[in-house]
Amino acid sequence: MTTPSRDELIAAFPLLKDLIALRETAWFNPACTPLAEGLPYVGLNENDVRDAEARLARFAPYIAEVFPQTRATHGIIESDVVPVPAMQHALAQRYGAPLPGALWLKKDSHLPISGSIKARGGIYEVLAHAEKLALEAGLLSVEDNYSKLASAAFRQFFSQYRIAVGSTGNLGLSIGIMSAKLGFKVSVHMSADARQWKKDKLREHGVEVVEYEQDYSVAVEQGRKAAQSDPRCFFIDDENSRTLFLGYAVAGERLKQQFAAKGINVDADHPLLVYLPCGVGGGPGGVAFGLKLAFGDNVHCFFAEPTHSPCMLLGVHTGLHDAVSVQELGIDNVTAADGLAVGRASGFVGRAMERLIDGYVTVADETLFSLLRLLHEEERITLEPSALAGMPGPWRLTSDYLSRFTPAQLNHATHLVWATGGGMVPQAEQEKYLLAGR
Ligand SMILES: *Cc1c(COP(=O)(O)O)cnc(C)c1O
Repeated sequence: MTTPSRDELIAAFPLLKDLIALRETAWFNPACTPLAEGLPYVGLNENDVRDAEARLARFAPYIAEVFPQTRATHGIIESDVVPVPAMQHALAQRYGAPLPGALWLKKDSHLPISGSIKARGGIYEVLAHAEKLALEAGLLSVEDNYSKLASAAFRQFFSQYRIAVGSTGNLGLSIGIMSAKLGFKVSVHMSADARQWKKDKLREHGVEVVEYEQDYSVAVEQGRKAAQSDPRCFFIDDENSRTLFLGYAVAGERLKQQFAAKGINVDADHPLLVYLPCGVGGGPGGVAFGLKLAFGDNVHCFFAEPTHSPCMLLGVHTGLHDAVSVQELGIDNVTAADGLAVGRASGFVGRAMERLIDGYVTVADETLFSLLRLLHEEERITLEPSALAGMPGPWRLTSDYLSRFTPAQLNHATHLVWATGGGMVPQAEQEKYLLAGR
């Protein structure tokens, strides 16, 4: 199949005009299906997610040992989910429309170790790789207490191996910190938009940071190439990794337990609507997969992207997935939203998840900054700009989309904004973000 030209694409998909004009856009996929129909296309199932959960449980004693900030949760890396009623009220005023139901925030921004959603997938993939190496070498059995991995002997063992990754920042932080802790040599290939403080932090942990003048796709490509020439180097492939995806998916069952403990019902009469910032797609795709397995058709997932980087919306809407980039349409892929500055979506995630994602919204950078400031004022929670991408979501649902719910269902709905990063942003950077939100 030859890729259609830009003009042919625009003629076939008029919505692309709005994307090119950088207008905030919403699209609800008419091809979205119930879970039972969409699941076979994912190519992964509940057992795969249980396997990931069990692996994280095996590692928990080790994590608790080497990251004291996880001792309270016994080495399980998990974030709070909190209601944000003052923000809900302020947004209702801002958008001139009250929101039936309740607005909640999932604070992956404050996940321990690396302060972003990447502490799920990124750390999980490093652990899975370390376990595989140690099992194959006969140094570890799955029955062992994994706190033994903290020993000098294991660090020595892992130091024979290298891990490499391409990143806009947060994935590099998660993989770099976790890999260095285990003893691996680790190289993070960083795109031009990566923040200086993230590079500095990685170097403090003894991570090799390779900097590029270009965007994320180039950093990933160069990282992949560098890894190919070294048989002891394992490249973590953010664009295609099933392992990363499963690390994220574990969030679904965890959230179900958290909601149950807080008395929040999710069922046919109480729908859950979740708004997930999307970069290449692995994080939101994996989390959405886990949510679908946990809550079935009572959860509805929406991806949120910057107006300058709407790669997943573009890929799914045109059906071209990773065969098209926003740059080919003349969209610049320049945004202050770290982690979301991705011009070409993951082909794996788009194809796996397109039937299970209800819709896509794009958000202007100005909106991200002004909502960052509003959340700080209303709730005293500070995030990084990308983490606000889902925040306008509940107000972007069209009456046409909402007509699938009864008024009673909407009154009992839980709207969950997935806050994906910001917990480790230095004070001085936070102040700059807050100023930009004026
Ligand atoms: C990486 C990232 C995302 C999106 O995850 P993808 O897997 O790239 O789609 C969202 N928010 C933040 C803060 C991130 O770092």
